[in-house]
Amino acid sequence: MFFNNTDKRYNQFSAYLKNKFGAKVYKITIDAGFSCPNRDGTISSGGCIFCDEGGSFSQAHSNLLSVEEQVRTGAETLRSRFKAQKFMSYFQAYSNTYKPVNELEVIYKSALNHPDVVGLSVGTRPDCVDNDKLNLLSDISKDYYTWIEYGLQSIHDKTLKRINRGHDFDCFLKAYELSKEKGLNVCVHVIFGLWETKEEILQTAQKLAQLKVDGVKIHMLCALKDTKLAQLYYDNKIDFMSEDEYVNLAVDFLEFLPPETTIHRLAGNGLKKNLIAPRWLGAKLDCLNKIDREFIRRDSWQGSKYF
Ligand code: SF4
Repeated sequence: MFFNNTDKRYNQFSAYLKNKFGAKVYKITIDAGFSCPNRDGTISSGGCIFCDEGGSFSQAHSNLLSVEEQVRTGAETLRSRFKAQKFMSYFQAYSNTYKPVNELEVIYKSALNHPDVVGLSVGTRPDCVDNDKLNLLSDISKDYYTWIEYGLQSIHDKTLKRINRGHDFDCFLKAYELSKEKGLNVCVHVIFGLWETKEEILQTAQKLAQLKVDGVKIHMLCALKDTKLAQLYYDNKIDFMSEDEYVNLAVDFLEFLPPETTIHRLAGNGLKKNLIAPRWLGAKLDCLNKIDREFIRRDSWQGSKYF
């Protein structure tokens, strides 16, 4: 089974967007200077053990420019490099609903104030949303293709505790259900390699399949410079998966997901210069090619084990 008129055996979000909008849609990553309650002392001041100063796997580079300027310069750069025509404004770093709703409205609307922006994606924590904030996104979704992305990482509370996540699975479920009530597209982030067995990781896949989540982003746990995880790595308190283990597990995971679930990412993309381990993650394209080949070897596809 192939997806989105490509030879991919999984529902790659970029190909899905191209089909939907008739042109490739590029994400413009925006840093609007948000913080996170798990870093600023509200919940804890330590943050998740893998979080670096960029706010977890972020590629946004600067909040020195206004949001509108970041969108304008981002669109120009992508246009000249890739002949890009359509864009989504993407708030990725930290917790992008962690401000009062009136401020959020101004920030999101300035990210949409560009003729070629067709959508909005907002990454956040499940304990940083409420009715009013989700209503705002729901209103925006009437005119723009809108997603909310929740960092979950695992359905297992013992894991969430171990990584100092600061919320439990039940908190995610409440935010997820409220977001779906508001008609939002929801993408869920998970991480492989958090001291979990293969069975535990696949239980997360099965739960997300049962919820029929709209999108999934899969990260391989990686130690970035100046994080607690990097210290655990130097102290020999964590082993990272090999690339082959990751590839196998990613295919197992995708086989359990519904074919309709879009796959937004299949390996982390923290800034390479900050990556300490595992080093193989630096060659992300190789990993993605291996995942394609593993699907072919098994002659399986996303959803082949979904019932
Ligand atoms: S929720 Fe995100 S920004 Fe906050 S500490 Fe965890 S990884 Fe970092």
